[in-house]
Amino acid sequence: MRSLVLIGHGSHLNGESAVAVYRYAELIRERHLFDEVIEGYWKEEPSLRQVLKTTASTDVTVIPMFISEGYFTETVIPREMGLGHQGPVPPEGVARVIGGRTVRYTLPYGVHPSMTDVILARAREVLPDASPEDTALIVLGHGTTRNENSNKVVYQNAERIREAGLFAEVQALFLDEDPKVGTWPDTVRSPRVVVVPFFASEGWHTLETIPEDMGLTGTVTDFPENPHGHQRVYYARPVGTHAAVADVILHLAEEARGAGGPGGDTERGHEAAWQAFLKGARAGLRVGEVLVTPELGVFELRNALDEGRPGAELTTLVTPEGVRDQVRFTDGGEHRPVHTLRNLPRGWRAVLSEADLRRAMHYVYPAVIEETYAHDCHALRPTPWATTARRQTGIYAKVQKATPAQVEHVAQDVCSGCLRTRLWAGHKLTQSFLNGVPGGIPCAEACTFVVAEVREEVSGKRGGGHSHSH
Ligand code: SF4
Repeated sequence: MRSLVLIGHGSHLNGESAVAVYRYAELIRERHLFDEVIEGYWKEEPSLRQVLKTTASTDVTVIPMFISEGYFTETVIPREMGLGHQGPVPPEGVARVIGGRTVRYTLPYGVHPSMTDVILARAREVLPDASPEDTALIVLGHGTTRNENSNKVVYQNAERIREAGLFAEVQALFLDEDPKVGTWPDTVRSPRVVVVPFFASEGWHTLETIPEDMGLTGTVTDFPENPHGHQRVYYARPVGTHAAVADVILHLAEEARGAGGPGGDTERGHEAAWQAFLKGARAGLRVGEVLVTPELGVFELRNALDEGRPGAELTTLVTPEGVRDQVRFTDGGEHRPVHTLRNLPRGWRAVLSEADLRRAMHYVYPAVIEETYAHDCHALRPTPWATTARRQTGIYAKVQKATPAQVEHVAQDVCSGCLRTRLWAGHKLTQSFLNGVPGGIPCAEACTFVVAEVREEVSGKRGGGHSHSH
């Protein structure tokens, strides 16, 4: 049995940030090469601290869904996941045994050599008949920032494509370092020029900065009076959103497995947690704000506030992904980075098989089943605030300066809207939803949302009337 975990950055504010990772998870799931494909995030749930607990097998491959190596792939992800590794990740990845699971952590997808194929695929989309006679290729990178060294991989890709002889000239240009993208008319001589942004996603840079710096007006732009004569530029979409990235991910996973071991077993604690949940579900169960009702061999999920409403009044969902997309936003349309905040949307019901119920519950309340079961077995160890604060680096290092009163002030504001009980602040949870108390869910450690709010508090940026819902 094998689990694949894709790690994204996620966002506390922007509900669309996680979508690219969902999409790749779905593409890989469809190929049935792994028993499960799970997504985890720095700023959403399941968090980096929780995600390993949510995997069903003892054989886990973790792939950071980042375009380049840097602060997140080398510092934050290994630290938060407890990999006992910091700094550059070797080409063969890092392998560790964590809590009975063999975990293999790979390089980010963007540095894999097969990204060259993705660049070429993007180039072909805008100019299918590119030729070594008259076409130049510009591989366009962000350039090195404090946290990333994205230029190395852009140069490597440009070099590989140059060697293949598919273009008259191949240049690596950057937004934020030399050679800058705006210099292209002086250095690129070919009449046709393909530009492929080496970026993870469509966004401010690909939609505004790059077109502005290059003088582009759309996918095809003519420059009649350039120093080297008339030139036509074909602007491709970013590499990170190409479906072929799914192949790159699979290459990485395959290489991390080395000689292709036998795979792992079912992780016992994980399975016991889900069996405890399913036992409750077969009898009918409330977990937090959600009601699970058995119905002739299938299960129905709905917001407990919609109990008794006729099905015809509710939107019926039939897949775990449908449930995921439904619970990502509140009824007011706000993003829900913390799923146990009491703002589960209403007006829907899901009808699911037992296997789909598990996946749907994972999306409704990530890590809640596993952590609550562990708590009930006295196996969930709380992490006190001081330990969480000490671990923080970068812009979050300043939470170490927070006074206990400041942390409590934030927690009272944010956590009061959350179903979980703060074990990390010394609170006790005696009954859980597994023994009939729907709101009985433990919180072993301050979530990144609270860490970010404490940072605001320390910076004096948290105004009065600030609400947990943002
Ligand atoms: Fe909920 Fe507070 Fe725990 Fe975050 S830290 S999960 S808001 S109880």
